[in-house]
Amino acid sequence: MGMDRRTFLKAGVCACGATFLPAWVGRVPGAGAAPALSDREASYYEVLADGRIHCLLCPNGCVRAEGERSRCLVREPRGGKYRALAYGLPCVLAMDPVEKCPLFHFRLPGNAFSIATAGCNLGCQYCQNWQFSQKRPEETRNFTMTPAEVIKKAKEYKASAISFFYTEPTIYFEYMVDIARAARQAGLPTVMVTGGYINPAPLAELTALVDAFVVGLKGFSEDYYRQTVDGSLAPVLATLKAIRKAGRHLEVVTLLVPTLNDRLPEIEAEAAWLMQNLGPDVPLHFTRFNPQFKLKGLPPTPIQVLEQARAISRKAGLKFVYTGNVPAHEGNHTWCPGCGKVVIERLGFQVLRNDLANGTCPHCKTAIPGRW
Ligand code: SF4
Repeated sequence: MGMDRRTFLKAGVCACGATFLPAWVGRVPGAGAAPALSDREASYYEVLADGRIHCLLCPNGCVRAEGERSRCLVREPRGGKYRALAYGLPCVLAMDPVEKCPLFHFRLPGNAFSIATAGCNLGCQYCQNWQFSQKRPEETRNFTMTPAEVIKKAKEYKASAISFFYTEPTIYFEYMVDIARAARQAGLPTVMVTGGYINPAPLAELTALVDAFVVGLKGFSEDYYRQTVDGSLAPVLATLKAIRKAGRHLEVVTLLVPTLNDRLPEIEAEAAWLMQNLGPDVPLHFTRFNPQFKLKGLPPTPIQVLEQARAISRKAGLKFVYTGNVPAHEGNHTWCPGCGKVVIERLGFQVLRNDLANGTCPHCKTAIPGRW
């Protein structure tokens, strides 16, 4: 592994719950040359008749000739095979409460060990982590860590889970799968925080391995996906249905961007779709946009819009709708759908009080779905 315990600590790995910022990033300046890119063979590709390679991992379906980089910036044909260049090269490591993912119905006794590599298969114009997601692995400062070393480090820091977080884990699929397998053997649950832009076959491999999914449903129109996210809505809806069908823990998060995806009819349509396809128990988080990356000219989401979105979704029948990135808002808490009382009180990502008794409301005994 490319660091010792002292370097790791000095570099700032810490429990960080206050903001959506990586607690530790990349290689320490002056710690030596950047690690070489991985030559690990990628999964899910085919070689075309003309020798080019067609990636089958996500709906982008990249077709690349020898030496041409993929759209997600971390895959490339080399020596006639498709290579997962960021395998074993995380650029972000952190210890985070899972509430930061946001995961509110999947309680852990401690923090999760978060990990990410460079690259992304989408292009959200508001990305909070564009310094990693929109970069090649040659452009980020990376650790070198095998899956076994990730588990060892997570245990050393007494992590309660591994979370694939901060950038899109689909693009380092092979690394994620190997870490998830090792984590399962070590008794650590895993969490995938994803845009859900992945093809059905690799997703099926993940739903057999990963314990919890947080899917960013970034908006509810193909126009928004095309113009602001550089992707498509339909595959994400298919992902949500597949995760639900596989019976894995699932929470959904929608960042509301002023003027772009915050129209109330669109929010109504999203809530109706979630009710019909995932049921009333799926937790839904509406989070506040803060001006970032290419959308610095827009204001933060008005609180009133977040409140309207929450009210509309609850009216549609969703029982657990949250307000994110607004600390001390009543939408941070879990409210019992039976008696209307607060059963888990939060301040942002921090759980202040958890009154659940064996997963039920202490006042009216209504069962609150989740892993408690
Ligand atoms: S995973 Fe990457 S290489 Fe494969 S299709 Fe998607 S963007 Fe292209």
